[in-house]
Amino acid sequence: MKTMQANVVTPDGTVFDGDVEMVSVRAQSGELGILPGHIPLVAPLTVGAVRLKKDNKVQRVAVSGGFIEVRPDKVTILAETAELPTDIDVARARAAKERAERRMAEAKQDEIDFKRAQLALRKAITRLEVAGK
Ligand code: ATP
Repeated sequence: MKTMQANVVTPDGTVFDGDVEMVSVRAQSGELGILPGHIPLVAPLTVGAVRLKKDNKVQRVAVSGGFIEVRPDKVTILAETAELPTDIDVARARAAKERAERRMAEAKQDEIDFKRAQLALRKAITRLEVAGK
């Protein structure tokens, strides 16, 4: 299988750096699957799990927005936050999920507080999913 270099970086540093056969991300325009040789592309990301595939193994990373930059031999994900499953504090994500659900129940749907809580909920759910919880 052909491979390409993949990097996931945040303002705090590098979270993943390695050769992979496929990268899939959740872009704002929808799910994107990138194989080696892909045409150059820059796309904004939404909250979601990044999947990096190699040798039938999948490394998941929880990402909360940012950008993906694709070149034929290299994919760079510049994320606002990014965590590997082993770095995820499950209790913290569960608490964030409950807090967000409570805030959504209290706020009106068109309020900014509702949208903020909805985003927090998506982040918490993504972290729990990536952690396998
Ligand atoms: P919380 O409400 O629990 O603080 P948050 O969604 O507001 O979560 P972020 O602003 O997305 O947190 O992230 C702030 C920092 O904390 C980032 O470095 C992020 O990687 C880290 N982080 C957030 N939640 C978790 C978690 N459950 N486990 C590990 N790291 C986390």
